Amino acid sequence: HNHIDRATPEKVSVALVTGDTHVHLPDYEALEGYQAAGGYETLTGLRKEGDWKAVQEKVLASGLRGLGGAGFPSGKKWEFVRANAGPRYLAVNGDEGEPGTFKDRYYLERTPHLFLEGMLIAAWAVEAEKAFIYLRDEYPAAREILKREIAALEAAGIVAPEYIDLRRGAGAYICGEESAMIESIEGKRGLPRHRPPFVAKTGIFGQPTLVHNIETLLWVARVVREGPEVLNSIEHNGRQGLRSYSVSGRVKNPGVHLLPAGSTIVDIINACGGMLDGHTFKAYQPGGPSSGLLPATICNVPLDFDTLQPLGTFIGSAAVVVLSDKDSAKAAALNMLRFFEDESCGQCTPCRTGCEKAVKLMQADSWDRALLADLCQVMGDASICGLGQAAPNPIRSVMTHFSEEI
Ligand code: SF4
Repeated sequence: HNHIDRATPEKVSVALVTGDTHVHLPDYEALEGYQAAGGYETLTGLRKEGDWKAVQEKVLASGLRGLGGAGFPSGKKWEFVRANAGPRYLAVNGDEGEPGTFKDRYYLERTPHLFLEGMLIAAWAVEAEKAFIYLRDEYPAAREILKREIAALEAAGIVAPEYIDLRRGAGAYICGEESAMIESIEGKRGLPRHRPPFVAKTGIFGQPTLVHNIETLLWVARVVREGPEVLNSIEHNGRQGLRSYSVSGRVKNPGVHLLPAGSTIVDIINACGGMLDGHTFKAYQPGGPSSGLLPATICNVPLDFDTLQPLGTFIGSAAVVVLSDKDSAKAAALNMLRFFEDESCGQCTPCRTGCEKAVKLMQADSWDRALLADLCQVMGDASICGLGQAAPNPIRSVMTHFSEEI
């Protein structure tokens, strides 16, 4: 398969040989440096005399929403999990398999303790018995950093031994779907579950489970320490907050760009130093392949939660890919569907067979629009999880915006 390239444009020196011992680690802030700057004082203070409700208020006031894709208000989740009797668990989704997304890796390889403190604050807030970190296996440097720093936290008495369980993903995109991730943590094959019941009630080993993304937890630490203003004081185009856009494609400086949540694609391309020489902006993927493609003519919409909904797309994990006049939207969409075909867990027919059929139909010079539209409808209506439900988006977006190519 000619898959979408998942490689990150970040130039972090990681020499992949065999096993963890050969990984070259980037410079990152270790425990000592983090503590010297006041790190873990917030957590220690909360553990002594904290009120979880007050912390939740802060997080809600900041406007922080889930940054793994779904965009649910982060503070709300705590309440749902706490409403169920323990033992409760915390699961960190660090699978980051969405093509074009590399923000979690970026942060883990720089400030691992900001994430770890945020995680321990969230674990404290829901009184979690144990915290699982489910990390993408293709991140050997991040894994090594976490292993070392978790050991340092244990040695410093900040966490009990074995409280944090660092798990390795095994390369299945679907394990980034929270219920499939939980199945995988339980040692089973990563198949998404039917919902309800939701994981806040019936998660890991049937127990209430709080699931957060790595970047979300990093913001939890900052919001609790610096106040909700760290996010809600930033306004741009009528939107509040900040967003870490993972940008790749035909721009001069791809990478993770922390920009106001109200940023448009023009702001993002500008932050990347503009288009590559010789390339004219043609189209973009606003938030992972599940979000499809938008044409360059729609360039003044803030790339934020909700704002893209009327256009039939969403911001997801903010994986922006910029295409130029040298690229074909039709070929890009086919590439996305090939990816979904390969990564479908296969448990439900509309997705398993639908992705396969879509790939066949999309290879034709001229698309059978009526048949593809019908297929999109069935996949969207009848698939169990987000993969099959959103897989039609690239097809629909090409039919809507790039009909001259098909
Ligand atoms: Fe699996 Fe696709 Fe069904 Fe999701 S929609 S459960 S990935 S077959």
